[in-house]
Amino acid sequence: PLPGEAVSLDQLPIRDTLRGKEPYGAPQLPVAAAMNTNENPHPPSPALVADIAKAVGDAAASMNRYPDRDLAALRNRLAEYVTERTGTVVGPQNVWAANGSNEILQQVLQVFGGPGRTAMGFVPSYSMHPIISDGTDTHWIPGKRTADFGLDLDYAVGAIDELRPDVLFLTNPNNPTGHLIAEDDLIRLIEAAPGIVIVDEAYGEFSAGPSAVRLLDRFGEKLIVSRTMSKAFAFAGGRVGYLVAAPAIVGAIQLVRLPYHLSVFTQAAAIAAIDHRAETLASVAHLSAERDRISARLRELGYDVIESHANFILYGGFADEAAAWRTYLDGGVLVRDMHIPGHLRVSVGLDHENDAFLAISEKLAPEKK
Ligand code: PMP
Repeated sequence: PLPGEAVSLDQLPIRDTLRGKEPYGAPQLPVAAAMNTNENPHPPSPALVADIAKAVGDAAASMNRYPDRDLAALRNRLAEYVTERTGTVVGPQNVWAANGSNEILQQVLQVFGGPGRTAMGFVPSYSMHPIISDGTDTHWIPGKRTADFGLDLDYAVGAIDELRPDVLFLTNPNNPTGHLIAEDDLIRLIEAAPGIVIVDEAYGEFSAGPSAVRLLDRFGEKLIVSRTMSKAFAFAGGRVGYLVAAPAIVGAIQLVRLPYHLSVFTQAAAIAAIDHRAETLASVAHLSAERDRISARLRELGYDVIESHANFILYGGFADEAAAWRTYLDGGVLVRDMHIPGHLRVSVGLDHENDAFLAISEKLAPEKK
């Protein structure tokens, strides 16, 4: 036995609010087609790999020193990208970056949530929102969605009015449903919120809707737009997410961020990846077209397909989704069981992966049962 093996989690003095909770745990399995964590399935080009290798090599020459803890060069590049993408001119003072948008969300809750405070979201949504709330001892309030996973605006505004969360999460497009909140509805929700509003735009590049960045001018005292390089940018392994907000909010985050949280290597690699954005983001249109092809075919097969504005699809019609998940896996296709009865979620893959997924879906189709 290994040292300490007899010690159980139950006997440890963890906070009561963490007792009985489950860690985040999307399976990481060796499969032919990994279609379960909403990454960009296209590997980086050889030119991008070479530029990152060069940038990281150059950074190694100064790794005896701490990295720039203010991320000046990276924030400049991100500000340029956000400006180009959203049409709203933002400066590096509006931008902050961290190890994935998960760390961004954690930093935001460390400042604006915490003991005695609440965070609310409309579920099902991104499973890390409650987990990060628990981790920062922010009380999580799950609001509801409609039966087809949309948002009932009157209900949502009423719930915000009544429960007055310190932090409101709005995932747009939503994960795992792909649902998009129209801008007018978003404005109503932000207006109703008494505290901070985080619009989580991890999948923003896949949607035709405008970014909430263009509402920052109007709601600077409460709006934080969280984005990531993990999805459309094809940089999930590099771990960079960022927020766009009023400079005072970026200033507030400095109170909790660990100094030097982004290594010289991460900063150098991210800058190289941003400089290749034209080529990387060119895959987005094709992935969106594939999403529409998969959705149409699943509908033909009799599945109940939720309209998606992201790079994944939630679809239902399974009598036993856990058994169906296993059938996909046996066929080399890893999809995601979100524990939504009757439903599974698939991330759009490469064309041949999508074909393999559809072939298994055909065998499992509801109308054949
Ligand atoms: N927000 C949403 C809605 C997500 O789906 C994800 C990734 N699954 C994230 C944030 C976090 O991604 P990352 O930390 O890689 O930026």
